[in-house]
Amino acid sequence: MSGGSESAVSRETEAVNDDDFFPVPVDSFPSMDTPIGAAAHRASQVLHPSEANALPKPRERRVLTIANQKGGVGKTTTAVNLAAALAVQGLTVLVIDLDPQGNASTALGVPHHSGIASSYEILLGEVTAAEAVQQSPHSERLFCIPATIDLAGAEIELVSMVARENRLRNAVTKEALGDREYDYIIIDCPPSLGLLTVNALVAAKEVLIPIQCEYYALEGVGQLLRNIELVQSHLNPALHVSTVLLTMYDGRTKLADQVAAEVRQHFGDAVLRSVIPRSVKVSEAPGYGTTVLDYDPGSRGAMSYLDAGRELAARGLQDNQGNR
Ligand code: ATP
Ligand code: MG
Repeated sequence: MSGGSESAVSRETEAVNDDDFFPVPVDSFPSMDTPIGAAAHRASQVLHPSEANALPKPRERRVLTIANQKGGVGKTTTAVNLAAALAVQGLTVLVIDLDPQGNASTALGVPHHSGIASSYEILLGEVTAAEAVQQSPHSERLFCIPATIDLAGAEIELVSMVARENRLRNAVTKEALGDREYDYIIIDCPPSLGLLTVNALVAAKEVLIPIQCEYYALEGVGQLLRNIELVQSHLNPALHVSTVLLTMYDGRTKLADQVAAEVRQHFGDAVLRSVIPRSVKVSEAPGYGTTVLDYDPGSRGAMSYLDAGRELAARGLQDNQGNR
């Protein structure tokens, strides 16, 4: 386990409000023993990525679907910030926005107005995945297939289509994605278990479930797991819940600790040790069309996603969870 993950765990017991933190010149805080020193160090890593802090590439490209039919648990926030965290640490990442709300596209700063080549057109087979990919202005290694409002009709349109559950998988083959080699593909799902989410589950090998550290955190998770099992037994035998991420953790409340303990008991080792704190900076970033790593690289929110990214990458190597 990386040192970064341990630091995330220790933060679980601290009050978490990153608004007290702000980027500072690294030279002012040469020691990484203090929280602000560590924050400054991380900010410098984000702003000046180097070979030294590059994450290892997975043996094969990893495809993760971020799913939880409960709304507002941090799926999109996790998709974009985890993707940015991996990209800033040297990996090439593609986010597929499969939610008609288009929030991931917004946060990554890519256009997603109606008529643009998007996840809707690739599901319909009208454009290739490579034609729909856009580079995020925030990183040369961060890419997005956006979602437009047209996707809202797709749940219904897909019903009558041939191979309706396999359309995304068939659309994001290596060949369809062109020459660029993606280390990670992260799929952001809508808050439902409809055909869009099923397509995402069929296209991936791994599921990442974000769980909000609030009341009713595990509500609906049983239903999600049953759907994952159904997809696994009928459509995608390799599918498994590789990762659970605790989001919007507020260390000032006992509730957050209780939820975290319950989730760890339920999911065991699948739960990342890194925890995402509730943070105003995280929630403000999409309003500026960016990720928290760009918006405030020294903040706790940015650090926690960097930690989560490192942990995810390290686990992929240990577990050999490479994907097609
Ligand atoms: P939906 O189900 O609608 O797609 P979602 O699961 O994708 O929602 P998000 O959109 O990522 O959830 O987050 C819901 C709200 O919570 C957003 O306003 C987001 O900015 C905020 N949020 C997410 N993570 C955090 C966090 N760590 N701290 C503070 N606010 C957060
Ligand atoms: Mg969302």
